[in-house]
Amino acid sequence: MRVKTVLRKLLGLCRATVIVGWELADGAGDEGARPKLVVWVRTKVRRRGRCGRCGTLASWYDRGDGQRRWRHVDVAFATCELVADAPRVNCPTHGPTVAAVPWARHDSAFTRAFEDLVVHDAIVGNKQAAADRYGISWRAANNACVRVATEALGRVDLLDGLVAIAIDEVKYKKGQRYLTVVCDHFTGRVVWAAKGRSQDTVHSFFDALGERAAALQFVSADGAEWIHPVVAERAPEAIVCLDTFHVIQWATDAVDEVRRGEWNTLRRSGAAGAAKETKGLRWLLLRNWENLTGAQRGVIRDLERANRRLFRAWQLKEELRDIFSLPLLSAQRALDDWLAWASRSKLGPFVRLARTIRRFRASIEATIEWRLTNGIAESNNAAIARIRTNARGFHDPQAFIAMIMLNRADLTPDLPWVA
Ligand SMILES: [Zn+2]
Repeated sequence: MRVKTVLRKLLGLCRATVIVGWELADGAGDEGARPKLVVWVRTKVRRRGRCGRCGTLASWYDRGDGQRRWRHVDVAFATCELVADAPRVNCPTHGPTVAAVPWARHDSAFTRAFEDLVVHDAIVGNKQAAADRYGISWRAANNACVRVATEALGRVDLLDGLVAIAIDEVKYKKGQRYLTVVCDHFTGRVVWAAKGRSQDTVHSFFDALGERAAALQFVSADGAEWIHPVVAERAPEAIVCLDTFHVIQWATDAVDEVRRGEWNTLRRSGAAGAAKETKGLRWLLLRNWENLTGAQRGVIRDLERANRRLFRAWQLKEELRDIFSLPLLSAQRALDDWLAWASRSKLGPFVRLARTIRRFRASIEATIEWRLTNGIAESNNAAIARIRTNARGFHDPQAFIAMIMLNRADLTPDLPWVA
């Protein structure tokens, strides 16, 4: 077998790439340096003369900056680099642009295969781990993610065929920095994300959706004031549902508020022991009953005697949760009872919650009637929180959006050797 044939197989080069020559630099002299396989390549004549940005046939412009180098996938202990001329063509749309090459994306110092590996690892683990593994900077790994996401988004139209969507907000940075995220209820995929959380942001989603908005049958959202009016205007036929996930969150927030109130009262009255106990209850109270251990359930049962107000708050939360699994008619009756009970409960946060629920009642009943599960919104929320934690927060919303789309829109690149 000829060396060039071996190289072509080892490096996974496609037919449009011609190997011109190669050299193995052994890295001697440099302590600890890895050997480097340098391979000179060129684009097959038939595939030359295309714009690097859009792929349109374009005429020769000039030699550009001469030769360029692209880091390629390592070959065992050696690193690997492709070297080629990078002439410019004169694209009718983009003007003088470096010609497209089959082995790399436009404007990248990495080959496509190398970049896909980096992005793959950045998604499975995190960007820093990927950067360390391939010996590149965090910034380079980040740029690779943005480039791959942008390319993938240009290839697919995620907004096609939407029937039921969830609109939600996601925090990307301390302070009031949010993204608006839209996901498809049926596939669970994130289909759109943009910076901001305002009526304008929701409008720009509907602008992108265009006439397809008429096909929307369900839109679920949290109670945010900035979502509902826009949905009513742009998708008047759609039934607006309130994500169960958010209603339950309101209730758990209310429980926590009651608990903090009780804790403060006890502390001020000098019952230090009881106050401490109340503080320790925090996570227990927010957990779902079915997820509690026997001992933890005992603690909740004891609460009935120890702190009636807190116990009532907990009961109200659990009862509200149960309503969402009832058939519509029973749920409506149960909701009437619940609202009456909450309003009379003498627990400020629940009196307020009852008011909110009355205001959103139609959307809540729609959720129960159409059984739009909250699993998708919930799992997306959890996954997005994980992405944010892995990155220790995001300063650049575009980088966050790129990671969300790569992760949650099924845009993760295949491993280079998967045909
Ligand atoms: Zn072009």
